[in-house]
Amino acid sequence: MSFLSEAKKQFELAANTLDVSQDLRQRLLEPQRRVFVTFPVRMDDSSVRIFSGYRIQHNNARGPYKGGIRFHPDVDADEVQTLAMLMTWKCAASDIPYGGAKGGVAVDPKDLSNGELERLSRGYINALYEVIGPHRDIPAPDLNTNPQIMAWMADEYGKLSHEYIPTVITGKPLAIGGSRGREAATGVGGAMVLSELAARLKFIPKKTTVAIQGFGNVGYALAQELFRLGYRIIGIEDSTGAIVDKRGIGMDPGRIMDQKRARGFIAGEYCRGSVCDSEHYTAVAPGKFLETRCDVLIPAAIEGVITSRNAKKIHTRVIMELANGPTTAEADAILAARKILVVPDTIANCGGVVTSYFEWVQNQSGESWTDEEVEKRLYRYMHAAFSAMFVRAKEKRISLRTAALSIAIERVLEAMRLRGL
Ligand code: NAD
Repeated sequence: MSFLSEAKKQFELAANTLDVSQDLRQRLLEPQRRVFVTFPVRMDDSSVRIFSGYRIQHNNARGPYKGGIRFHPDVDADEVQTLAMLMTWKCAASDIPYGGAKGGVAVDPKDLSNGELERLSRGYINALYEVIGPHRDIPAPDLNTNPQIMAWMADEYGKLSHEYIPTVITGKPLAIGGSRGREAATGVGGAMVLSELAARLKFIPKKTTVAIQGFGNVGYALAQELFRLGYRIIGIEDSTGAIVDKRGIGMDPGRIMDQKRARGFIAGEYCRGSVCDSEHYTAVAPGKFLETRCDVLIPAAIEGVITSRNAKKIHTRVIMELANGPTTAEADAILAARKILVVPDTIANCGGVVTSYFEWVQNQSGESWTDEEVEKRLYRYMHAAFSAMFVRAKEKRISLRTAALSIAIERVLEAMRLRGL
């Protein structure tokens, strides 16, 4: 089943717990707008390459479209459409006034020089200038995009508008209107969700073993926060390898990142090193990492990694989805039968978009909140979103995913009813 079919199936399961007509289901399963562009980029050798870019706007009943931009060779229309729909549910479930969208460019950015990467980022905004805007559609970082790329994109939008408009993009560097806490927010929010769950399941951090797939923006910030809270991180995987130490890695994840970065950077933005460059750990065979025995398994890299093929071999009590869409619907059913609790991406990784919303609010009011203020506000949103999902799941005896999605669908439908279809 494709990623899109998986997401549609999960939607139907949640809609079945509500009274949603076939017409409305159809409306919610299709995006409101799909934009596909091709645009030229001048390469360093003076040749011109044509790239394919997407922006898919799923639903804006609750507010402007919102969603990240990813640079990845596998980006295609179906993937972007699925991620756009997931954004609608995430923004609604976390109760921020946005709809859902997603963007992407089919490219391996690690093959580009820094100058090529900048021209690609600017070219994307140039091609999509008409469809985005501070009250229309607000992009942000995702896989392989970062604050520097957001800075180029915000600057390009400003050039085309003849004024710098920071509210058009979130996830910017601090110096040009970014928010404190934004870069680490998805990971920090994920740690808040784990703390909420741990309190209910009576997990004690120092006795709780954690394995994290992905050591990028999300996985790294999460590892740092969980390490600070005293959790026993026993494994980390990135795209080039994995390390495991059953006793706990026992080292600040910052040092693992330093050792990885010591190998240098490709094209200035992407690290050449691997978590395997850190010392004294057992390397794990590719594809086996998710089978590491642990209490909490955290996919924080890419979608579709927990499938019917490996779900039976996963030995954990909880899966926290920090990546978007890491678990297929078939795997979900197997995990439920094995009593493995899955905390869905809708809530587990919403800390990033909630803090993006804070950035947008600060840009509009001209304020600059402290780290403490951002964290306090983030906690309020994460606590409310997690509690609502947990209570709904218990009351209706449904999975956490179905509970989170049903809350989100209800909120989107209410906005559509009030505004008129
Ligand atoms: P990133 O590009 O910063 O990092 C991705 C990490 O995953 C890297 O360490 C990479 O090496 C690793 N990786 C890639 N393919 C892998 C594979 N096959 N096996 C193991 N590791 C692999 O991206 P990110 O921003 O950290 O995003 C990670 C996930 O979190 C994505 O699913 C993204 O949609 C989701 N997400 C990101 C944000 C955000 O604020 N950045 C917010 C919500 C959700």
